Amino acid sequence: MRSRYTRSIGALAGALIAAIPAVAQQTAAVPSSMTTPPKAIDRANLDTTCAACSDFYTFANGGWLKRTAIPAKYGEWGAFDQLEDQNEGIVREIVEAAAADVKSGKAKAPSNRFKVGAFFAACTDTAAIESLGMKPIAASMARIAAIRSSADLPSALTALEKSDGLAPFGVGATQDLKDANRYIAYAGQGGLSLPEKKYYVSQDTSMQNVRDKFVRHVAAMFRLDGESDAAAAADANTVLAIETKFADASMDRVTMRNPDATYHLMTIAEFDSIAPRIKWATFLTTMGAPASLREINVAQPDFFKAMNGFLTSIPIADWKTLLRWRLLNTSAARLPKRFADEDFAFHKIFTGQKERLPAWQYCERLTNGSLGEAIGEDYVARTFSPAAKARAKAIVDNMVSVLHDRIGQLDWMSDSTKTQALAKLDAFTRKIGYPDKWRDYSKLEVRVGEYDGNYKRWNEWSAARSWAKIGKPIDRTEWSMTPPAVNAYYNPLWNEIVFPAGILQPPFYDPNADDGVNYGAMGAVIGHEMSHGFDDQGRRFDAKGNLRDWWTKADADKYNAQAQRVVDQFNAYTIVDSTTHVNGRLTLGENIGDLGGLKIAYLALEKSLKEHGRPANIDGFTPEQRFFLGWAQVWRTLQSDAGAKAQVNTDPHAPAKWRVNGPLSNMPEFKAAWGCKDGDPMVRPDSLRARIW
Ligand SMILES: [Zn+2]
Repeated sequence: MRSRYTRSIGALAGALIAAIPAVAQQTAAVPSSMTTPPKAIDRANLDTTCAACSDFYTFANGGWLKRTAIPAKYGEWGAFDQLEDQNEGIVREIVEAAAADVKSGKAKAPSNRFKVGAFFAACTDTAAIESLGMKPIAASMARIAAIRSSADLPSALTALEKSDGLAPFGVGATQDLKDANRYIAYAGQGGLSLPEKKYYVSQDTSMQNVRDKFVRHVAAMFRLDGESDAAAAADANTVLAIETKFADASMDRVTMRNPDATYHLMTIAEFDSIAPRIKWATFLTTMGAPASLREINVAQPDFFKAMNGFLTSIPIADWKTLLRWRLLNTSAARLPKRFADEDFAFHKIFTGQKERLPAWQYCERLTNGSLGEAIGEDYVARTFSPAAKARAKAIVDNMVSVLHDRIGQLDWMSDSTKTQALAKLDAFTRKIGYPDKWRDYSKLEVRVGEYDGNYKRWNEWSAARSWAKIGKPIDRTEWSMTPPAVNAYYNPLWNEIVFPAGILQPPFYDPNADDGVNYGAMGAVIGHEMSHGFDDQGRRFDAKGNLRDWWTKADADKYNAQAQRVVDQFNAYTIVDSTTHVNGRLTLGENIGDLGGLKIAYLALEKSLKEHGRPANIDGFTPEQRFFLGWAQVWRTLQSDAGAKAQVNTDPHAPAKWRVNGPLSNMPEFKAAWGCKDGDPMVRPDSLRARIW
């Protein structure tokens, strides 16, 4: 939902990315005129009329929240978004300069600079997009029109999945969760236009309202494509009815967080026996899978069983309606403006944006998402010095050693589990700033003035690149985020923590700031990613990245009892109104990550204070108080009600306010730093407090 990636990822890839939980999915514009660096903690951002022990988020951010407004083109605005906006400004300069070099003839094919410049320029050429009209989808529309019977459907779905990704399920290459040294194929559920299952099946008034708006939107898109009002209205209802069947057959997000629930390794012949109407060997090799492929992880077998029935139970005329909708929906950005405008008018109900992103920014994101590592070298040269990289590495190493000591001291964990946990921690790969080896784009062809063609060639290149991994050793130098990302991740299959250059900047990490603030912000972010290695999902993977249970039963039981406290705590939190609750199960991994990250970062600060001595208070705040202010200020966020509601339904990250008040109210260190008393809202009773680290 808030992912800054403009391309959707396959359904199972989505589940795996959920297993690669990020700190936050969006991230910034410091005015370029700013000449003096801002203070690490600006007192004007505080609201001291609110007691720190009552609501620390408001105490720390109330001043900023009151005087700031969300820019119209964004659905939310906070420290992540401000830094991201700033990084996007830098990437804009890079892609615009490349585009100018393509125009002048200075950048020539097949250089990366040519590809970046031509890709970006074609995307921003709105006049060319208008004059092409419906041509980008004409061949696929004809392919859909040519379907005559249910017997034609499997081969049509195969062709249309290859050309436009229209099948209501996805396949791709992925690592085997239980043998992380090899790539296999996966198949995952799909076919939903709304963000998740709940939007189709919930009887909530707000969900019914979304469905009503969705039907009006689908009808509007059909009308733009030339249908009569009556036909468009009927077709839109057909689309909702079919997608509701798909939703009923889908696995929900909370279940998908359990990697055991989505692990069903089988042969292609076994897959054929679950869903015989699609000839899977043909389908997979058409998508690019090697002919030698024998095994596949079918993430949701029940979904595919149901889909096999839908292929004949849903009338063929309705299937054709669905496929026309899927084509219009997926192509809206590459069709004339009236389609993109209608698409935005609907989707803003999830994002809360008031205006569409300007063309340069949409295209900057698409270019960075597609060719990010061809841009990354320039970006890093401008923003991330070797000295900054060395400093960041030292902080990460220090944090790993603090967690190492902490695990050794845990009184609830047995020695045998500790040995395994320490082996896992010591095996962490640490990636900082940017890849050691940049991605090879030599096989990707980009042409001047061909937006739709470039987009499709990129998709094909990307799929081929991914399928080619099957049967080969794993290249562990790869990154899943581009250097300007204001984000970070833990990848359980590679047992690695990754911090792009984009987040290693103020206010997350500021070389001019005191340790208190830096440990509270970047330190806790680093600790958060490390903790993902041991959250409810990450703890199921071992040091080698294999899904394998290495916990004693007693330790797992103790861990789960503490995790349940975190679930209960966050289930009780609401946003927007008293009826919209945070989903404690969906956000469990992230909340455990915050709790662990803050604890480890706090211990690292104490260690640093012991080694280097206590500095004088700054602005009247102790280093410990500045630690908590540092954490709170990176989460200051203004969010539209629409965006907040969509977030709690789909995002594994809790809303910003609760990412501050939730973990801090569990910490005796917070209580001590601010002199809070038992019974204060920021002090959870001992009997309810979760203790993991
Ligand atoms: Zn996370």
